[in-house]
Amino acid sequence: MISEKMKELVKNGSAIRAMFEEGKIMAAKYGKENIYDFSLGNPSIVPPVSVKEAIIDIVNNEPEMELHGYTNNAGYEDVRQAVADYTNKAFGTNLSAGNIIMTVGAAGGLNVALKAIINPGDEVIVIAPYFGEYDNYISNFDGVKVMVDADLERFAINFEDFERKITVKTKCVIINTPNNPTGAVYTEDDIKKMAEILERKQAEFGTSIYLFSDEPYREIAFNGLEIPYVTKYYRNTIVGYSYSKSLSLPGERIGYLVVPSELDDFDEVIGAMVVANRILGFVNAPTLMQKVIKKVIGNTSDLSVYEENKNILYKALTEMGYECVEPKGTFYMFPKCPIADDKEFCEKAKEFRLIVVPGSNFACPGYFRIAYCVDKAVVENSLESFKELIDFYKR
Ligand code: PLP
Repeated sequence: MISEKMKELVKNGSAIRAMFEEGKIMAAKYGKENIYDFSLGNPSIVPPVSVKEAIIDIVNNEPEMELHGYTNNAGYEDVRQAVADYTNKAFGTNLSAGNIIMTVGAAGGLNVALKAIINPGDEVIVIAPYFGEYDNYISNFDGVKVMVDADLERFAINFEDFERKITVKTKCVIINTPNNPTGAVYTEDDIKKMAEILERKQAEFGTSIYLFSDEPYREIAFNGLEIPYVTKYYRNTIVGYSYSKSLSLPGERIGYLVVPSELDDFDEVIGAMVVANRILGFVNAPTLMQKVIKKVIGNTSDLSVYEENKNILYKALTEMGYECVEPKGTFYMFPKCPIADDKEFCEKAKEFRLIVVPGSNFACPGYFRIAYCVDKAVVENSLESFKELIDFYKR
């Protein structure tokens, strides 16, 4: 008999799996090329050639037993130093290898951080709409999710509600910019305002509130937009990064945590994270990928495709009459449904061969997510279906 906790998680998990299966059934029925599947955030562009070259070089030239052995739980020292040096150069930080933990992607990093800091009953704030897996990660450590209502104007932060939701039990706030599912990017002013509120609340309650900045989409920002580096604005920031999207390597499970020395109880926190990396079952981040990262650091896939897709979709959809906040990054768009029931709308979309995800999966009903990490041709060919879909509701 499985655990009560897992029963609930399996029930929720099967909804997403069902959508995936549905996509396959539809592809068999109509032909794969006639289905416009915008459901998953799986990158659609190949990794840069430097990744393949690095893998071949490492496999051919590094001593095998060392390459495939366990590493220090935090990751190879030289790889962590390379990440620190790169971050210092790019963002003016003052990090060394001792501030970096190599992780099993962003998901691994989030779980490690939460395991290290959350006591059962501690509150973790998330800002709607948000990546639904946060619920599972928080529940892994018996934390209590506290949701800040969405700011539907910009999909930034509803500061009034944010301030209201912080209590003496708040241990962590998770932000994600550029954002899945909206594509929103928090401005420097947003970050400053958030930092000011957090500082004030820490002083009021005499607590430490850690801000976890989840940044797998950092490089996917449009129009050359700069994404503020959050550690500069708030001392108790932990950054989680992943190469899943920027290098199109989600299956390789590689990322890192930045834990600045200024963090409250730094030594204890980073020590706990290193142990968490081991005892959560990861033991260490994949060794071959750690070495690849050292060689290709600073490279990305050709991310311009996502901006092209965004431009095509945003222009066409708004002209058709969809209401949408223009994404500033990522490969997601989060338009409003023309009816209140987002699940019903996404079901209807299937009749037009479109697979999109209900906003309620991201705690924001009445909206839907389009993951446009697909070939440009799929975007272009899908437009007629989007038009027929909204026309159906206009009739
Ligand atoms: N955080 C956000 C906001 C994401 O969208 C994703 C994946 O889509 C993750 C974390 C997990 O990323 P990874 O594959 O690096 O674990």
